[in-house]
Amino acid sequence: MMSRSERPGFDPEQLRRILAEGNRGDEEPTESAGSETAGPGEGAESGAPDGVQLEFHLKPGELIAHLDSYVVGQPRAKAILATKICTHFNRLSLPPDETEDIVGQIKNNILMVGPTGVGKTYLIRLIARRLGVPFVKADATKFSETGYVGGDVEDLVRELVTEADGDIDLAQHGIIYIDEIDKIAASGRTSGPDVSRTGVQRNLLKLMEETEVDLRSPHDLPSQMESVMQMQRTGKVERKKVNTRHILFVVSGAFAGLEEIIRRRLNRGAMGFRPPEADGAGAVPDDSAILQQIRAEDLLEYGFESEFIGRLPVVAVLEELSRADLLEILRSPMSSVVVSKVRDFLAYGIDLRICDEALQLLADRAFEERTGARGLVSAVEKVLLDFECRLPSLDLDAFHLTPEVVEHPARVLDRLVAESSIEAFTSGFERDHGIRFEFTGPALASLGERAASEDRLPGEICADLFSDYGHGLKLLELDRFEITPEILADPQKSLDRMIRQLYGGRG
Ligand code: ADP
Repeated sequence: MMSRSERPGFDPEQLRRILAEGNRGDEEPTESAGSETAGPGEGAESGAPDGVQLEFHLKPGELIAHLDSYVVGQPRAKAILATKICTHFNRLSLPPDETEDIVGQIKNNILMVGPTGVGKTYLIRLIARRLGVPFVKADATKFSETGYVGGDVEDLVRELVTEADGDIDLAQHGIIYIDEIDKIAASGRTSGPDVSRTGVQRNLLKLMEETEVDLRSPHDLPSQMESVMQMQRTGKVERKKVNTRHILFVVSGAFAGLEEIIRRRLNRGAMGFRPPEADGAGAVPDDSAILQQIRAEDLLEYGFESEFIGRLPVVAVLEELSRADLLEILRSPMSSVVVSKVRDFLAYGIDLRICDEALQLLADRAFEERTGARGLVSAVEKVLLDFECRLPSLDLDAFHLTPEVVEHPARVLDRLVAESSIEAFTSGFERDHGIRFEFTGPALASLGERAASEDRLPGEICADLFSDYGHGLKLLELDRFEITPEILADPQKSLDRMIRQLYGGRG
């Protein structure tokens, strides 16, 4: 990959200048721009999450390749998001254009439509991280016309500043992601008054266009008190503002029922509708193929204000993940589902090894849940939770996740606990008496049956059965001792017989 300096057309100095100019609000205090905002280069590094450098020079193809290494499927959505977001940020490196003020500029705000757990948040988060811009996620269900969980929609912008470690320049180039946007559609499909939902759309609209947000929240008592104290001290209040002109807004939702609206419109069309995928006559197009046909008028009918839709010129439709997609996610070394589980076990010194057949079963289970990749986490958790709870006490250094574990977790866990109790007993006996017990298969089976009927661990039963065995066994001068079902049935009698045989033979 080329370094920044080698790239033609990108001038970080110039970008910084543009950023600094954008930040200079009319009534801004003299002090803020100098002291609070970072100089060229600095802000990009200090504010970028995990020290990632701002890379506004990225090309769509590079961003798609980056997304491909993490996100399974969704080729169309990846292409749309990568292209429009790259263009949004690359456009900022152009010199200011006076015509822009006259003709206006269309920001590439994005609407994502797709079911839960298919990668909507994941894609945006990955993009923000790759670009090194701050990212804030919110849930539209938390908004009301008058506020957003005690504050207001402008809090999202303030959160961006926090995410950018106070770097206002950087925050002004952040990404705000609002999920469940379909819940603020005023169509009466969800409960609550329509009036407030339309009001929320208008409040958001202001942010999505261009507005100046005061860094001090009117709802935040400490920051208001700080203003009062500053006024008393200096006679004026310093107002730091964040301009939302370059902040990218991405909104998303599942939009239940939208396909019906689109279907109706398509049916109204003179030619009727045959999606390209429908090969045979009478083939019913699936919801995803229908959703791909989305138009502004459908969103209008769904309950969005036309101005609101007008601020979302880019639409990306995400598809439901197939069974094969889910398996690919599980197999991927970049997937957090398996990787984080392996680390969870490693934290207890247990090497978790997972075979592919087990992954296939887990993918099947997740698919049945219909919650996309979220189903993977719950499928894996459901199987492994009890193991994560009990195995750390069993002193194991490895655990194999096999199809049997997926299908009969309780049975496997019981077996492991039983085996571990036997191992604890045999190693304790060996330590005390220098003799290693070895159980035959039939002996283990009979021990298991007895443990089940007495509701005790086999190791505990052995400890009782062989409590007085050490000295007697020493007479046999063995270092290994094989336990058979006969010995288990009456250990003392068996030991006496062996001793008699030994001494009788010698005598
Ligand atoms: P949503 O579409 O509801 O926003 P998320 O993007 O939050 O879903 O997905 C939840 C998690 O599932 C992600 O953090 C990621 O680990 C995983 N995931 C979702 N979709 C994909 C995908 N297409 N490829 C790989 N992992 C995915």
